Amino acid sequence: MEWELTMDPGAAYIVSKLEKAGFEAYVVGGCVRDAQMGLIPKDWDITTSARPPQIKALFPKTFDTGIEHGTISVLWEKRTYEVTTYRIDGQYSDHRRPDTVCFTSRLYEDLARRDFTINAMAYHPVKGLIDYFNGCLDIKKRRIRCVGNAAERFEEDALRMLRAIRFAVRLRFTIEEETRKAMIEKAPLLQYVSKERIADELTKTLLCQDCSGLEEVGSTGLCPWISPRLGKISPDYEAPRRVAPEKGLRWAAFLHPLGSSQARAVLSELKFDTATIRRATHLLEFLRAAMPQEDRAMRFFLYELGTDDFMALCQLKRATGLLSEEEERQMAALFERQKEACVTLKQLAVSGRDLLAAGAKTGKELGETLEKLLCVVMEEPQMNQRDRLLAYFREHLKA
Ligand code: ATP
Ligand code: MG
Repeated sequence: MEWELTMDPGAAYIVSKLEKAGFEAYVVGGCVRDAQMGLIPKDWDITTSARPPQIKALFPKTFDTGIEHGTISVLWEKRTYEVTTYRIDGQYSDHRRPDTVCFTSRLYEDLARRDFTINAMAYHPVKGLIDYFNGCLDIKKRRIRCVGNAAERFEEDALRMLRAIRFAVRLRFTIEEETRKAMIEKAPLLQYVSKERIADELTKTLLCQDCSGLEEVGSTGLCPWISPRLGKISPDYEAPRRVAPEKGLRWAAFLHPLGSSQARAVLSELKFDTATIRRATHLLEFLRAAMPQEDRAMRFFLYELGTDDFMALCQLKRATGLLSEEEERQMAALFERQKEACVTLKQLAVSGRDLLAAGAKTGKELGETLEKLLCVVMEEPQMNQRDRLLAYFREHLKA
């Protein structure tokens, strides 16, 4: 055997248990690819000739994760392993999901349905590496190549085009010429893929530490099929890798050329959760805001922006050329001095209840009184003491 993979103990246990029961079993897909590249696999998937009920009968703790596609999750020492029956995908009439899946007893057929050669390898502790489609060679050549005819594979499931870019970006591979040509030809088919799957794939790509190579989304013509708005204005392919790999921040960096309201529309179209949409658009609303130059202005700025978003905003400004390295350093120093400053009602040394006890009016006015006290404190931080604020209230606000 020319190459030996150090198997995860849980995966090794599951493979041997399936074999002792008379079935075939291999680790497959991402874990074989990553191990070959000397990376530590994130999760270990197993492919087997056993059918779902037979898998379930062998292991005490299982979940039906995708039982209709033959996938059972097996829990072993607090880790889960996806165990999937060898399968062939049926006709794809909608360019995203097979109409039917059927089980097969041949490993070859299971590997042939997979997307890229580097993802279509299996490994067995005794039989070694099974590589029918030259995935190993493609790893050596650092390229993403479809299993079989690329155009047909994208016809079946158009999401694979975005997956090709994700793997190219993550592994720093190039997309092999035939595969890339097929992407350009089949780009419009992305319109048939659900927005959630598109969003998920793009997010995974954007969150790769160094997401250079992202421009393939534009150069293969996929943009307008992600959102018509991206057909009119191109996103920024360079900015995302210059900011921390955090979802809302990376999306803001990607979409900044559209402005905050168009970016919001794209993110809503892609069905993002409200927290992500809010974070990305909030940062974009402040992208062109003038930055504070001294302590007092900084406190009022943090009041508007929110302390948690300040360093992210600086990164975004820096990534988009709106802040120089020197300015970013100055901002960090200014922020360091004011980051503990009281800029929210929560941090104020008096509460609504304290003010009511001191004779304040309830309702809307109470809120306004608290805001006024917060302004006093932002002007003069040393005022943030209960006694002082209550005294100020009695003297200036109570009447
Ligand atoms: P990651 O480390 O990102 O999880 P992975 O290779 O495990 O990478 P998954 O999306 O988890 O990728 O998919 C597991 C395997 O299933 C892939 O390696 C591939 O063989 C196959 N696969 C997943 N999605 C598709 C698809 N859309 N078309 C064909 N095969 C796919
Ligand atoms: Mg995986």
